[in-house]
Amino acid sequence: MKIGSKLIHNNGAVDKITGALSIPIYQASTFHQDDIDNPGKFDYSRSGNPTRKALEDTIAFIEGGKQGFAFSSGMAATSSVLSIFKTGDHLLVSKDVYGGTHRIVTKFFNNFGLEVTFVDTSDLANIEPAIKKNTKAIFLETPSNPLLKITDLKGAIKIAGKHKLISIVDNTFMSPYLQRPLELGADIVVHSATKFIGGHSDVIAGLVVVNSHELAKRIYFVQNSFGAIAGPQDCWLLLRGLKTLKVRMDFQQKNALQLARYLADHSKVKKVFYPGLDSHQGKSIHLSQADGGGAVLSFKLEDGSLAKRFMDNVKMAVVAVSLGGVETIVSYPVKMSHANVPKRERKAQEITANLIRVSVGLEEIEDLLSDFAKALK
Ligand SMILES: *Cc1c(COP(=O)(O)O)cnc(C)c1O
Repeated sequence: MKIGSKLIHNNGAVDKITGALSIPIYQASTFHQDDIDNPGKFDYSRSGNPTRKALEDTIAFIEGGKQGFAFSSGMAATSSVLSIFKTGDHLLVSKDVYGGTHRIVTKFFNNFGLEVTFVDTSDLANIEPAIKKNTKAIFLETPSNPLLKITDLKGAIKIAGKHKLISIVDNTFMSPYLQRPLELGADIVVHSATKFIGGHSDVIAGLVVVNSHELAKRIYFVQNSFGAIAGPQDCWLLLRGLKTLKVRMDFQQKNALQLARYLADHSKVKKVFYPGLDSHQGKSIHLSQADGGGAVLSFKLEDGSLAKRFMDNVKMAVVAVSLGGVETIVSYPVKMSHANVPKRERKAQEITANLIRVSVGLEEIEDLLSDFAKALK
């Protein structure tokens, strides 16, 4: 079955009791046990909930993994994955990971003795020299945020495998419709389901899928004991979101390419970052591991004051953090997603005051282009 059909049929999931095509929201904390010697499948919703289980099974099916897990946010998902490691373990992390991931490893997990080295994984040659005796995993994000840098997943995973490292991929920007890292050999996939999977800017949630029963056991232990679970209502929204992921992504991606081309030709735009553009560094690697450029792009204007004026004058597009919704969202990384990354670090990553990130939505492209044209003027 092709991925587009898989998304619609949710692994054949229907409600076992009624046959409902929409898995009900089992808004329950606890479950009656007929026989205390043989407890039922569900006993307490931190440990397991039928709506959450339907979502977890569905995302595992779609990503091609062994088991899925739903969390209360993308950061809860990432943090729960990082919690399988121990004091003294060392991790390699893509240099321009999501700001919240940067913050949690440098200002939280460091307090528990987890060591981290940031590596520019867009050049595979940087990975091996950074591996130490105590390195246990590599955490990748591609395309990266906000400059859409591309890491060769197969290449990085191969190096990880050679050194027995667990490879973890934050797949938020592509979604499982466009990129499935487990099929490329990764061990763990993490999503902020808040973004494309939810798709409607109405839910905060995270998902994890693993490729082995051994890792599933370790992640389940954290999910059940740490307890950063997704609630049933949010799981239901994600099950619903997954069904339209393909049509949304197809349309948003088409819009994104047109907007990227428009911006690339515009005299006031210095540079456009979009993996679907021929000029984008890493485009061919990206398209060898993903089925399209996605719906996020960024661009640089002449200077920071012009970028601010653009943000003030854009009208139809929403000015906000986050991405992946049906509406076009324009954000300003220096003050928003990357405000927590130290200034020096930001500069080194070329996340500058003239940079604007766009999550392209489902509007008619003519309206979008005209909105951008006016704001650029
Ligand atoms: C938003 C985001 C996260 C964090 O997800 P939340 O749902 O906001 O906690 C992690 N990684 C990437 C790439 C993101 O865009």
